[in-house]
Amino acid sequence: MPRPQKCRRVAYLPPVTYFKPAGIPLGSLEEVVLTVEEAEALRLKDIEGLEQGESAEKMNISRSTFQRVLASARQKIADAILNGKAVNIKGGNFEMAFHRFRCRRGHEWDLATPVDATPESCPTCSTEDVQPVPVTGKGYAGRGWGKHRGQNI
Ligand SMILES: [Zn+2]
Repeated sequence: MPRPQKCRRVAYLPPVTYFKPAGIPLGSLEEVVLTVEEAEALRLKDIEGLEQGESAEKMNISRSTFQRVLASARQKIADAILNGKAVNIKGGNFEMAFHRFRCRRGHEWDLATPVDATPESCPTCSTEDVQPVPVTGKGYAGRGWGKHRGQNI
């Protein structure tokens, strides 16, 4: 039995999860699968410009694990771009770093919180009728909020 992997913490879900090169017939198109935590590693290091240690801390993993995840992500992106492959962002082993809440009047907001603590009132209209909602989005249907394994998406 392989040791169960520690969940990587992810704070961002890419809005677009499939990239296809132009001008390649679908039949001969190869696909690279980038996991959600690999996308997060790229975001932290290459978009946010964080140091490796900081990025590792945000994802709740060791520096060496972060380095591995990042190297794998870059290798896949390079492979896709240079060899004309599609990129599919999905799956992996992660938990969301935020919870989403909605008030009775329909306002929604995300809270970066490690626990399932429902806020007392809506930050927009101050109503106290607030409920947690599952985080969903294109390519992520059915995902729950909070601690959630990503294998089934
Ligand atoms: Zn509200």
